[in-house]
Amino acid sequence: MKLSEIDKIDLNELKSRPEWSDWKWQLRNRIRTAEELERWIKLTDSERQAIEATKAYFRWQITPYYASLMDPEDASCPVRRQVVPQMDEMEDDFDILSLDPLEELAHSPVKNLVHNYNDRVAFCVAAECAVYCRYCLRKRMVGDGEYAMNKSELQEGIDYIAAHPEIRDVLLTGGDPMILNDSNLEWILSRLRAIPHVELIRIGSRFPVLNPFRFTPEFCEMIGKYHPIWVNTHYNHAKELTPEAAAACDRITRAGAPLGNQTVLLKGINNDAETLKDLFKGLVKMRVRPYYLYQAQLIGGTKHFRTTIEEGMQLMQQLRGRISGFAIPSYVLDTPHGKVPLTPNGYQSREGDYVEVKAYGGETWREFNPE
Ligand code: SF4
Repeated sequence: MKLSEIDKIDLNELKSRPEWSDWKWQLRNRIRTAEELERWIKLTDSERQAIEATKAYFRWQITPYYASLMDPEDASCPVRRQVVPQMDEMEDDFDILSLDPLEELAHSPVKNLVHNYNDRVAFCVAAECAVYCRYCLRKRMVGDGEYAMNKSELQEGIDYIAAHPEIRDVLLTGGDPMILNDSNLEWILSRLRAIPHVELIRIGSRFPVLNPFRFTPEFCEMIGKYHPIWVNTHYNHAKELTPEAAAACDRITRAGAPLGNQTVLLKGINNDAETLKDLFKGLVKMRVRPYYLYQAQLIGGTKHFRTTIEEGMQLMQQLRGRISGFAIPSYVLDTPHGKVPLTPNGYQSREGDYVEVKAYGGETWREFNPE
């Protein structure tokens, strides 16, 4: 049954249908027009206008599952703001802001393979995503057929990795690698695993957030043959931590793949301490380790999402001591020279053999720490 053939969106009824939890049905029925979206939420005039105005420079589509998490009445809903185009995007200065802020193209020796750090590579094995996030770092390529990979291009990337014994860690990313079917993914994983110096394979995917049904028992069984595999995902708000998401994460961890999460700090979505605290606490309950909080990148059309670095550091300071240490990610800025930790002002000064540090409550502590 196609979503368009269903008369009225009744969520309870829709969720009771077997096709709802079929990841391929979710992809086939992605929402791509204002008319379709209006069956889910009450669009504001500005959102309707933005869908038209932004068409020319960044695509959009939303899975029915992710659309079901949106507040139908409230345009400031944090789920809605991540994926529904906004007129603010048109107010950004596209000439000044780079579309490739991490200079990934300059660090790509072969198509879609970024070799920035000596011992690891990011291999963009697919250009498509389940949903297009408005703040995306890879706007320049996601959804663009020019960046799609055929088998011989994938083989070229694998051959590059095989010819570079210093590469011990391969991140499969995109787009989203989980858009590929199991047999194509297994084709890649088996070839990487056959390279003796590749110690670790990571899959970076937003599917646990946007289409959690992708992590089928068959997929989980398949990755068991190629461990160690880690899965990195990308939750930005506690509203995304649904029972379906928790079940997907549970299947992944039971399959033996540790799960990590990176969040992007986004104004109006998660830039307050309570929201971040709820997100990180919720992730840990799902056995997902929050490991990075990213400063939003300088990408065209995202000015309205960016906070200052000082605000981000202040938020981190507010979290310290309020949730377990391992639930607090590192706040980082990604640069063409690698990630730079944006630590709160912990380290104060040195006086002889003593270092002064500031505790989360503001108290100063002098630690004996001879040079
Ligand atoms: S899923 Fe990731 S790569 Fe795809 S649009 Fe969203 S942020 Fe960008």
